[in-house]
Amino acid sequence: MSLDSIALLSKLETDLAHTAAKIYRADSADFNEIAQCFIDKLVRTPAVVRPRTADDVALVVQFCLRNKADFTVRFGGYDCAGRTRVDEALVIDMRDLNEVSISEDKCSATVGGGILHGQLARALGEEELATPVGNIASLEYTGWSTLGGYGPLSSGYGLGVAQILGANIANAQGEIQTASEELLVGIRGSGGSLDIITELTIKV
Ligand SMILES: Cc1cc2nc3c(=O)[nH]c(=O)nc-3n(C[C@H](O)[C@H](O)[C@H](O)COP(=O)(O)OP(=O)(O)OC[C@H]3O[C@@H](n4cnc5c(N)ncnc54)[C@H](O)[C@@H]3O)c2cc1C
Repeated sequence: MSLDSIALLSKLETDLAHTAAKIYRADSADFNEIAQCFIDKLVRTPAVVRPRTADDVALVVQFCLRNKADFTVRFGGYDCAGRTRVDEALVIDMRDLNEVSISEDKCSATVGGGILHGQLARALGEEELATPVGNIASLEYTGWSTLGGYGPLSSGYGLGVAQILGANIANAQGEIQTASEELLVGIRGSGGSLDIITELTIKV
């Protein structure tokens, strides 16, 4: 079932009313700007939802499961095949999960699953820290690093994938979990095809 039903979209809005998540319907003024990806695809997207927390992500996944609604997960939107846009599917846009928390020893940081390269580089730079990031500020860190991730610092400090120490995910049942060591092996290289990564812990 698609979300192309005003009743279903209203139900989603009701379910998320107590959260800070935002929903952009296809007829809203800023929809095109929000939904735009690097690859333009001729698909119909009924709405884009932007969760603010991992719990919001879990709620949206649970809603889609309950209502048999198709969804895709979008981050920076730079996928070369435009796989984050699928006809009639709700888009879960993770770009508001963009917090950075630096460890006390300043050797690692925990970052939101939707953080963009520019935001991460800026937050680390304020503490005179760095980690390999890509060449474009609006690329998203998780999609980049889980696929390998090369950038200007990679020859000195390694690929993005080599920085991943841990992850929190929303699984296919819409439950938030800390990734096991076995799942981490898959996450390092899967390009985000295993679960929705809501948080990464990385070397800095
Ligand atoms: C113009 C351009 C420049 C690029 N430059 C570089 C570069 O300098 N170095 C480099 O290594 N690569 C580069 N790439 C490739 C880029 O890193 C990959 O396409 C990457 O997957 C983009 O991630 P995104 O999150 O921005 O894209 P999206 O299209 O939003 O996501 C890509 C895929 O990963 C999934 N995904 C992303 N984040 C998560 C997550 N948190 N949890 C679960 N799934 C997730 C999405 O569902 C989607 O299937 C470039 C691509 C383009 C188009």
